[in-house]
Amino acid sequence: MTIRFPVDGRTRKMFIDGAWVEARSGKLFETRNPATGEVIGRVPRGDAGDIGLAVTAARRAFVGPWSRFKPFERQALLLRIADLFERHWEEISQSDTTDMGMPIVRTRANKLRVLGMLRYYAGMATAIHGQTIDNSLPGDIVSFTRKEPVGVVGAIIPWNAPTAASVWKIGPALATGCTIVLKPSEEAPLTPLLIADLMNEAGVPPGVVNVVTGTGPEAGAPLAEHPGVDKIVFTGSTATGQAIIRASAGNLKRVSLELGGKSPVIVCADADLDKAVPIAAMAAFANSGQICIAGSRLFVERAIHDELVERLGKFASALKIGDGADPSTEIGPLVSERQLDKVEGFLKSGRDEGAKIVTGGRRLREGNLAKGNFVEPTVFAGVSDNMQIARDEIFGPVISALPFDTLDEAVERANATPYGLAAGVFTRDVSKAHIVSRSLRAGSVWVNTYHAIDPALPFGGYKMSGYGREGGTEQLDEYLNTKGVWIKLD
Ligand code: NAD
Repeated sequence: MTIRFPVDGRTRKMFIDGAWVEARSGKLFETRNPATGEVIGRVPRGDAGDIGLAVTAARRAFVGPWSRFKPFERQALLLRIADLFERHWEEISQSDTTDMGMPIVRTRANKLRVLGMLRYYAGMATAIHGQTIDNSLPGDIVSFTRKEPVGVVGAIIPWNAPTAASVWKIGPALATGCTIVLKPSEEAPLTPLLIADLMNEAGVPPGVVNVVTGTGPEAGAPLAEHPGVDKIVFTGSTATGQAIIRASAGNLKRVSLELGGKSPVIVCADADLDKAVPIAAMAAFANSGQICIAGSRLFVERAIHDELVERLGKFASALKIGDGADPSTEIGPLVSERQLDKVEGFLKSGRDEGAKIVTGGRRLREGNLAKGNFVEPTVFAGVSDNMQIARDEIFGPVISALPFDTLDEAVERANATPYGLAAGVFTRDVSKAHIVSRSLRAGSVWVNTYHAIDPALPFGGYKMSGYGREGGTEQLDEYLNTKGVWIKLD
């Protein structure tokens, strides 16, 4: 494998207008391997000035050479990008694992999904079209709609899945003919830079894809405010999403938001527990719980509550915790010490409010684990709906088990949250599956499975989990304006 970007602490540049540049201020910030604490890269600390340069380059490309790319040429470009990703997947997966801790088995397995996204967008690039519409106006008029790219897109992403999040923004931008300025998270900026390099090699023209690294307040906020940006697409916390809406008001940018969640999983007494236990556990523990759709509230029908909780505890305590670079690791570190402190705070609040720890509940300090940000997968029982651990997004490997008596009650309690990103149901009864999935106020509902995501299926939130969709034709519409044209025939 040829390594393009060794993660050995070296100083990086960021990618603006087809060139590798330093921050204009010359400032850098460090990024660390969360499993070992080692500095693995020094990255430009971009600010409003750098964002301004990137937005200008993106605008120039949008009205210039990129606007002359035909849909089939954008399609060919996306297919070349997909092929390059495929060839360099091992480096991409190692980069994500080293920068944010996700176990390598998982980053490797994400290949199918990310390549699927790129090839889906390639397919969609030639499928964007308007409609001819008959009308009842007097006279002879032909009218039709055109789908046009919104323009310059500002994309701001979190750290928990840098590759998928980058592709989920860049792919539709390229498919629709937009240009993009991507601001990765300061916690995991390395893979988005590698992605910029692959885009460049594939032949993406200068200015079409720009990656500006930096912090939220210094680089993210100026991007959200910039009058030269037509659309902001944001994935991150609900509080930052609200700040972005405010910042985008100056020029009424189009905004789509993928925000936080507190997703419920409902296990009915008729469920196949052999299948439900591992899926419900990993619904909450995968990526150490650092997934927006983490199924952190587990509603269990009372008749099976004690058995399910016991089996869940056994499953959780057998998970192998360690450096994500080890292929046998199932649970990696949390991304940062700050995140670890936050999760420890939730564990304490659960104990203080009287919940019972079935398994886990501790930061790990043994041997090599002491150098990283490791916490045990934790199952709490005896939780009530108003406890903090049952209300707030933890973004750590913590399940709150909550018994229920009737399905109506479970649905009502599952919906009693400001969030609405995802939900799961386990049952062998097809009527229950339909009724519950229809009644849950969430953008994705999985029955007898969890985490399934497909590029062709829209994904996104209800309520305070955001608006707009990623995936499917709905996502492409977020990057397009619809224009009506009337032509009077003489
Ligand atoms: P965050 O909101 O702190 O940061 C996300 C991004 O926003 C980062 O790039 C950050 O630098 C930037 N940012 C911070 N302040 C900003 C500001 N004022 N203006 C502009 N940009 C700013 O979130 P995080 O801690 O990186 O990620 C965790 C959150 O993301 C969780 O709430 C999680 O649920 C959510 N998330 C949602 C999805 C989804 O698809 N719904 C996916 C992954 C993560």
